[in-house]
Amino acid sequence: MRLRNKPWAAEKIANSPNIVPPNPSEYRGEWAAYFNHNGPIHVEVGTGKGKFLTEMAQAYPDVCFIGIEKFDSVIVSAIERAEKANLPNLVFLNEDVQELRSFFAEGEIDQLYLNFSDPWPKVRHAKRRLTHEGFLSMYQEVLKPKGEVHFKTDNQGLFEYSLESFSKYGLKLQNISLDLHNSDISFNVMTEYEEKFSERGNRIYRCEASFPS
Ligand code: SAM
Repeated sequence: MRLRNKPWAAEKIANSPNIVPPNPSEYRGEWAAYFNHNGPIHVEVGTGKGKFLTEMAQAYPDVCFIGIEKFDSVIVSAIERAEKANLPNLVFLNEDVQELRSFFAEGEIDQLYLNFSDPWPKVRHAKRRLTHEGFLSMYQEVLKPKGEVHFKTDNQGLFEYSLESFSKYGLKLQNISLDLHNSDISFNVMTEYEEKFSERGNRIYRCEASFPS
């Protein structure tokens, strides 16, 4: 993600408490009450400029969507998009996923999305990959039993690594696609990176991985 210096970003975030709730750990275990809705909770980690989650929230009004993005200068684009869409079932957290357990109680999340996560190609940086076992154990804690991780990337190396990491950790893999845009999948909301990379002719890889009960 290319970062642009946006000195006004912090102010924009502070002035958008309905879209970026400040102090999200206050809602740990209480997100259903926050949304005033008992529907499933889906979380996207590394949400970027929010295209995917905003379109998902429009397509699935009975699901509550929460996007986590650590950079101010990126999340402001997600705020602008969400403002225009004006959706009751969408918020963003301006936080680092490392703190996931302080925002969500055990078993609070139904599904998690990882879209075009940073690949961290150097072996010595493997622990930073969002599909590393250290992150998987965090996801397992906050997901319900049999909770799912839906993963998309154009990076073949990261995809291969992630399939192995999911599998070693005991997740069950399903709906694996090695070329999503030339598959028979009926519905796919594209992310910003997905649009950009598929326009360049890159193949998009996707899989779903579910934790054991
Ligand atoms: N998901 C978007 C898409 O597909 O268009 C953005 C992909 S971009 C390559 C990865 C995003 O993840 C960046 O916006 C980055 O700031 C965010 N990110 C990376 N590590 C993160 C972390 N530990 N916590 C929160 N966000 C993170």
